[in-house]
Amino acid sequence: MRRINIAIDGFSSCGKSTLAKQLAHHLGYTYIDSGAMYRAVALFAMEQGLVQGGQLDKEGLLRALDGIDIAFKYDDDAQRSATWLNGRNVEYEIRSLEVSQRVTLVSPLPEVRAKLVRLQRALGQGGGVVMDGRDIGTVVFPRAEVKLYMTARPEVRAERRFLELLGNGADVTFAQVLDNIRQRDADDTSRKADPLTKAADAIEIDNSDLSAEEQFQLALGHVARAIGVGAEV
Ligand code: C5P
Repeated sequence: MRRINIAIDGFSSCGKSTLAKQLAHHLGYTYIDSGAMYRAVALFAMEQGLVQGGQLDKEGLLRALDGIDIAFKYDDDAQRSATWLNGRNVEYEIRSLEVSQRVTLVSPLPEVRAKLVRLQRALGQGGGVVMDGRDIGTVVFPRAEVKLYMTARPEVRAERRFLELLGNGADVTFAQVLDNIRQRDADDTSRKADPLTKAADAIEIDNSDLSAEEQFQLALGHVARAIGVGAEV
């Protein structure tokens, strides 16, 4: 059966990764979390002391860019893929609110984006990839056979992310999480380089009032149509 690429874009915390993982698992495809790569670059900048008082030392980061190695490796214990930064598993650290609050300092930089887009395209070269992010259907895989654009009300998204962070033992409030989501929505849609925008041929899914299963079935229907087979996909 033809192995296509599936691009899933949308706002922060609107269930992109849940859907992407479900589709990848069902189809036997590889799931790639492009946001994890931007988060890893932000973590690198923080650890190198390149973020001070909410300001990024842009020149410093650009000088260090060639020395940033990001990879995904299967974590046998967690039984899922994990993000590695310069030979270290950073899957847990990159999900913190501190990283979420700083990631939009690094994601607007065209040099950072060029490096990560190159890597993302290489990973999707042979097809059979489900990738989620902000610019996958518009920039990374403009010819992806299926493009989904996901949205949900900010309060619904904040609630989901808040529960996830609490589950990880984080010390955060709902207001902090909602504030971060609103801030990132504004940053991601207003930046000059590859802003979040719906591709002309993307299918929009608002999942505010959909269960994960309902959303999965809806998306699977679009994939089945693209591959040209019935619902048994
Ligand atoms: O998807 P996630 O919320 O983990 O992404 C973290 C941040 O990385 C986003 O807020 C955005 O600034 C950046 N990002 C991006 N382009 C992508 C994926 C993520 O700019 N393709």
